[in-house]
Amino acid sequence: MDDAAPRSLTLVIPLYNEAESLPELVAQIGTVRATLGLPVQILFIDDGSTDASWAVIQRLAAEHPGFTGVRFRRNFGKAAALQAGFERATGDVVFTLDADLQDDPAEIPGFLAALAAGKDVVSGWKQVRHDPVYKVLPSRIFNAMVSRTTGVKLHDHNCGFKAYRRDVVKSVRLYGELHRFVPVLAAAQGFRVGERVVRHRARKFGRSKFGWQRFLKGFLDMLGVRFVTAFGRRPLHAFGALAFLGFGLTGLFSVAGFMAWFAGYASLGFVGLLAASVSATLGGQAFLVGLVAELLVAKLAPTSSPFAITETLGLGDPP
Ligand code: UDP
Ligand code: MG
Repeated sequence: MDDAAPRSLTLVIPLYNEAESLPELVAQIGTVRATLGLPVQILFIDDGSTDASWAVIQRLAAEHPGFTGVRFRRNFGKAAALQAGFERATGDVVFTLDADLQDDPAEIPGFLAALAAGKDVVSGWKQVRHDPVYKVLPSRIFNAMVSRTTGVKLHDHNCGFKAYRRDVVKSVRLYGELHRFVPVLAAAQGFRVGERVVRHRARKFGRSKFGWQRFLKGFLDMLGVRFVTAFGRRPLHAFGALAFLGFGLTGLFSVAGFMAWFAGYASLGFVGLLAASVSATLGGQAFLVGLVAELLVAKLAPTSSPFAITETLGLGDPP
């Protein structure tokens, strides 16, 4: 792991219809950039905006050095925008921050200090939030659940403001709507994850792009990420365990059913045998699904590495 002081930074800024916020955001970035003494690449990812966002970015890029941008053909979602940014980022440290002025670029030096203290990922924690209560409360529950389920204990998984060592963003691949789970995916590869409190500001222009569905989707994504990080390379272990459970229950129900039958409770015996055949069928199904999943993993194995290397010794080539 390269713990040396960063020689350059990249700010990845996903945005969807944020034209009004951009000039002020750029001014705030300019202020902090002047104090950093490092080259800073600013990478706007316009996620299919239908307002004047892209025109504003073009104008700003003409006025300021170091401004770059990617424009999606349509709205693909925040995770896709972050992935596009991660692929193009050139800095030693990569920041993600929202474009809506809720994240304060003045926090950047604090994040750098937290990385220097030995983390690979530092996630923002909006300890005092300026969001409506109907958003804050479910968010607390979501964070507690994700921390418990994934073992990555953060107070604010969904905070858009995060800092990553370059290795992290080049190793993690975001798919679906996993923008809330980058630290979880990074931790699964052995990266060190920390958090730091950030000042949160109320949205000044426009409105949030995520409705109540975010909690439902976030919950399903949590289950998906948990499954993939635990069993992504060995699905038969998960489905096989379910199959054993099914077959175990089949045995139990059969014995109980026959016993009831011989004791003269014919209808109870019938119910037992019915339950036995249902569990046998479900167990068999689970086993077959496990085999199919295993087959997929075996076919994909040549294209994905089963390990993550942090350093090599005496081999010359970079990891
Ligand atoms: N965003 C995006 N694509 C989308 C939705 C949102 O790039 O499909 C951007 C949005 O413009 C903002 C950031 O992601 O810069 C966070 O979105 P928002 O402020 O709406 O989320 P919230 O603060 O409500 O969590
Ligand atoms: Mg916001």
